[in-house]
Amino acid sequence: MKTPAAVTRIFDALDRHHPGADTELVHRNAFELLVATMLSAQSTDARVNLVTPALFDRFADPAALRAAETAELETLIHATGFFRQKAKALIGMAAILVEQHQGQVPPSMAALTALPGVGRKTANVVLGHALGVPGLPVDRHVLRVADRIGLAHGDDPVAVETQLGKLLPPARWTRASDTLILHGRRICKPKPLCSMCQLTRDCDFFRTGVTTKPKKRVTR
Ligand code: SF4
Repeated sequence: MKTPAAVTRIFDALDRHHPGADTELVHRNAFELLVATMLSAQSTDARVNLVTPALFDRFADPAALRAAETAELETLIHATGFFRQKAKALIGMAAILVEQHQGQVPPSMAALTALPGVGRKTANVVLGHALGVPGLPVDRHVLRVADRIGLAHGDDPVAVETQLGKLLPPARWTRASDTLILHGRRICKPKPLCSMCQLTRDCDFFRTGVTTKPKKRVTR
């Protein structure tokens, strides 16, 4: 269990490491971020960002996407993988936005996760980055980095989201997630670059060489 002072030091250090941390998915509004985040499943932000300009040119809003021809949509998103499931989910999502939400992205976890292809992580991304509602997305980077530091433990993203949420005021949730994700991508990689990290003082993994998960050791 980290002290409040340690928690503050940790997230301040993450802020210093990753100033301006934000989602790397390019978007202009909540609808575009919802689509981009759905496409990012089993893909990368960079790959999604390659396909979304043409996609958003062709289908600029939920009404247009709802009326999309499946084959055309599949071609546009093919590079992100799982394109058949994603195309079906996108058209279904757009239909519900039009039919139940006046063509708007609803600013609530319950309404977002009722959309096809939208899980809690995707909903948190959209809430926190495009709708002004605190959200704390937990992906594999957040799971790994939070576990190593000793902020939260477990493989269940919802449980880790709850643990992290208790450490910080809601206003800091989204930025905390962004910095943990970037830290996991850039420094606290599967093979961590501890010599480049400003969190060593408060990191359980650095001090002990182990996490709560067995067989995760590194040579520093
Ligand atoms: S000290 Fe090492 S293990 Fe700990 S957060 Fe930094 S990079 Fe990750």
